[in-house]
Amino acid sequence: MANLIELLPDKVANQIAAGEVVQRPASAIKELMENAIDAGATDVSLIVRDGGKTLIQIIDNGCGMGETDARLCFSRHATSKIKQAKDLFDLHTMGFRGEALASIAAIAQVTLKTRTEDQDIGTQIIIEGGEVKSQEACATAKGTSIEVKNLFYNVPARRNFLKSVKAEMRYILEEFQRIVLSHPEISFSMFHNDNETHRLPKSTFRQRIVNLFGTRYNQRLAPVDEETDIVKISGFLGKPEFAKKTRGEQFFFVNNRFIKSSYLHHAINNAMEGMLQSELHPSYFLFLDVAPDSIDVNIHPTKTEIKFEDEKSIYAILRSTIRRSLGQYNIAPSLDFEINHDYDVSPMVDNKEIRQPVIHVDPNYNPFDTSEPKENKTRSDQSFSSQLRSAGVDRPNSQNNHEHWESIYKGTEEVSFAPNENYATQTKLEEGPDNGNENHHKPIYQMHNKYIMSHLKSGFLIVDQQRAHERILFEKFLLSIKNDKALSQQLLFPQTVLLSPSDLALLKELQEDIEALGFDISEFGENSIEVHGIPYDTPTGELQQIMEDLLEQYKHHTSEAKLDRREQIAKSMAKSLSIKTGKNLSDQEMHKLIDELFACEQPNISPNGKTAVITLSLEELSKRFEL
Ligand code: ADP
Ligand code: MG
Repeated sequence: MANLIELLPDKVANQIAAGEVVQRPASAIKELMENAIDAGATDVSLIVRDGGKTLIQIIDNGCGMGETDARLCFSRHATSKIKQAKDLFDLHTMGFRGEALASIAAIAQVTLKTRTEDQDIGTQIIIEGGEVKSQEACATAKGTSIEVKNLFYNVPARRNFLKSVKAEMRYILEEFQRIVLSHPEISFSMFHNDNETHRLPKSTFRQRIVNLFGTRYNQRLAPVDEETDIVKISGFLGKPEFAKKTRGEQFFFVNNRFIKSSYLHHAINNAMEGMLQSELHPSYFLFLDVAPDSIDVNIHPTKTEIKFEDEKSIYAILRSTIRRSLGQYNIAPSLDFEINHDYDVSPMVDNKEIRQPVIHVDPNYNPFDTSEPKENKTRSDQSFSSQLRSAGVDRPNSQNNHEHWESIYKGTEEVSFAPNENYATQTKLEEGPDNGNENHHKPIYQMHNKYIMSHLKSGFLIVDQQRAHERILFEKFLLSIKNDKALSQQLLFPQTVLLSPSDLALLKELQEDIEALGFDISEFGENSIEVHGIPYDTPTGELQQIMEDLLEQYKHHTSEAKLDRREQIAKSMAKSLSIKTGKNLSDQEMHKLIDELFACEQPNISPNGKTAVITLSLEELSKRFEL
């Protein structure tokens, strides 16, 4: 019988292995950066073009390779990191499988330049699709530079599988963040299409987090520190009041290697129970150090999952450590950060002072009085219009001032946002609240700082204030998008918003969309933008939060369609800017809200499809009283 079994040629074996090791540019970058770290580099640069699809280059100042090693490193199972099977259980390096370079070279065009300290002249090797094209001596700095061009050029099916540049960049940033966080002692930089997106000097861990995610993180971090026989835990926890709506920064490093673990994540959630609203996610940056022989890192090909020998104890220790640190951070300020100590203020001072709630009663208020309502200073003090005023915008109540405020807002000629011209007809059609000025004299009530009740000709209506305002803002934003002319209010004093380099890069991509909604932004510094104008009706004090919310939303929204994307942004902005449940409103504010709501195309539902208005007719009411 003929022999059927053949050994696969190396080239084929490498291509198959590449499928496991290299799924996309980000995974190649991870492998190459880990190699640079294993080589003892103190400075690593990453250069990327077109989301890594056309070029990935990593330059390090590590130990470099001699001529023979330079050639050998592209062979399968070529590694300098383990010599015997038992070494597997005592690993201190990132890589050890000896297949990354072989795999990458099998599916790309690779140029390697490398030189060791004691060589005068380096080695250059060009290898494409696993075939060495040339090897020659070259002049190069000590260390290694690897250029990987046109990933998957010879595997069209895989190349087509790559996502948009933006999406690939997101994967790359994710890997980059994991690596730079686990090595604050190394300086890193990153360039995308010739723009420097990150420059991270060697620093402490805390500074690395701050450099990576933005200065504002300094006050958000609570230190975590615990040492037991089984595990040593260190790092930082995001204080609960800064928790995010979408999963943000959640990093576990076990023996300096990023890992994903829903089990450990659960321990943190469990420790924070009661401190976080259910829809919020905690941030954490935690290092767990355990004896190398008590874990098995080899169970997953991309090595982001591991198995602990003593999982249960680690869970319990982690949970109690987090609890303790949460209990402490309020009183014990962190002393870790050498610069800018004074940033680290207690969140109590930082947010707002806590006051006993005060009930304001207007002794002159007469619900049956039909004369023009007087402005009530006490009531409108906390109002939405006072927020506008503090934003440098004087919001008049009547149309008489129309001319005056038109000059404040840009773009008002094209898009009218004043009590809508359609208002009269619309409300009649829908039998909304009574028309015209008369409406403002009707009694209006707020219940539980959540619902607004008002009269209709033939009954009454109840409005959910937050959903209603979301609807109003959403339609306003949609109109801006449709007309490509946003309603913008210019700020008297431009405001600076701090952003991490990666958020800044994201914002640049989104700038056009965000400006279509009325923001007027210019880039200001390395980690900040300057906002000159904001959409009409935006309270300025919350700009930092608004921008962060917007970017958060966007990170988790995958649609590439421009219009859909803008609608999504409009929705999320309407949500974060809306008057919230719990806010006490003045009569004028309630009237305005209802006026504007019934000028909307779909006043009855919130942008997310929830009921915003309930009406009850007199007929229905009397039926109920029949019994
Ligand atoms: P592994 O990292 O698992 O050993 P790789 O295929 O990633 O396998 O690398 C093969 C070998 O090439 C490494 O063990 C190391 O000796 C050498 N090498 C790779 N990258 C570098 C680098 N940047 N500097 C020095 N040596 C390197
Ligand atoms: Mg490696």
